[in-house]
Amino acid sequence: MSLTNRILIAMVAGIAVGSIINLLVHSTGVSEGLKSLVDVYFVNGLFDVVGRIFVASLKLLVVPLVMVSLICGASSLGDSARMGPIAVKTLGFYMATTAIAISLALFFAVLISPGAGVAIEGAADFQAKAAPPLTDVLVDIFPSNPIKAMADGKMLQIIVFALLFGYAISHAGEPGRRLASFFRDVDSVIMKMVEVLMKLAPYGVFALLSKLFSSMGIGAIFDLAAYFFTVLGVLLLHALGVYSFMLRTLAGLSPAILLKKMRPIWAFAFSTASSGATLPITLRTVEKRMGVHNSVAGFTVPLGATINMDGTAIMQGVATVFIAQVYGVDLSTGDFLTVILTATLASIGTAAVPGVGLITLALVLEQAGLPVEGIALIIGVDRLLDMVRTAVNVTGDATVSLIVAKSEKQFDQYVFDDPKADQHSDENPGVVPSI
Ligand code: ASP
Repeated sequence: MSLTNRILIAMVAGIAVGSIINLLVHSTGVSEGLKSLVDVYFVNGLFDVVGRIFVASLKLLVVPLVMVSLICGASSLGDSARMGPIAVKTLGFYMATTAIAISLALFFAVLISPGAGVAIEGAADFQAKAAPPLTDVLVDIFPSNPIKAMADGKMLQIIVFALLFGYAISHAGEPGRRLASFFRDVDSVIMKMVEVLMKLAPYGVFALLSKLFSSMGIGAIFDLAAYFFTVLGVLLLHALGVYSFMLRTLAGLSPAILLKKMRPIWAFAFSTASSGATLPITLRTVEKRMGVHNSVAGFTVPLGATINMDGTAIMQGVATVFIAQVYGVDLSTGDFLTVILTATLASIGTAAVPGVGLITLALVLEQAGLPVEGIALIIGVDRLLDMVRTAVNVTGDATVSLIVAKSEKQFDQYVFDDPKADQHSDENPGVVPSI
């Protein structure tokens, strides 16, 4: 069985086992002894430990992988003067897709009115954190100490340092060439580590989802059905419709192939709810299975995981309209424009870890003059939406990487079209992926 299928089966099994445990814990017919046994040995024992080790080992690879991959990419591009145009295009697409995402979210939220008739209760217990000033955010992109940036996992700082380092390598003559070849070797070895980790993914995904669903009250979805399904619907529309349309029209590539090759990445994004933790898998898949050359993917994927959050922006758009409706506030056209702008910026500032989109939502609400406490209304269903929106966030990163790579001729159509590209050699002997 292919790894993708194993991961997808683990995902479904994890959700099923978790939901059964949840029912068991809440049923009166089951003895307390059995409940605590399941809780101690499985939910907070085996599942918790395996899940946390899995996420930790994914995160372990993020900094070295981004660093090395970006150095390789920048050093191979440095001479060709394409770095600037690639950066501008990538940023442009990331901002544009986010603005489209939030506009769609606002449009459907106004159309569906998920907040109409919802009563306010328990809305007072949310404490918003103050957002840092924009100037600090900008200055903070530039590292004063690369080792500290790596130790703190500050992705934008790492990106800046690696770009500079890679650029210098490409202009340093013979020593630069030696160093570039060293980093290419390190890159292959780290990619191998990602491959090893992917083989363990079914266990990790199963453990994470069983633990999560055993404690997640799905009941909240029914109370907030209109909100939940509006967000979900727009997320699906954006992921399946907008990205497919863009990929087809701007790059002439088949969306069906993209969606097929995205499936294992979705399982990672869904179970970890973190684009950051999913980053090693996204990068490996985009390079080795979708044919994007490292010189583009090494830049676009880590940058996308950090700043491109279309799914998060969708949630923030629907949530803003929802909260305005619950509190009976009418939003003007100016308010909508403010929301589009601030949600685009807020999603850029959202860290690629679980639940942060809800925190940066405070920024959007404040700008639109809405009560920040309204966030408490939607917390109940946020984790599940977080899982789905993270999957959308990473799909956006892959789509933009493909479009930029295609336009820059840093793309291998053969790899993209090959359904077996980068399948592990033990499963498909004889297939040697190359880009
Ligand atoms: N969990 C999301 C991500 O990592 C961010 C968020 O919306 O909270 O992409």
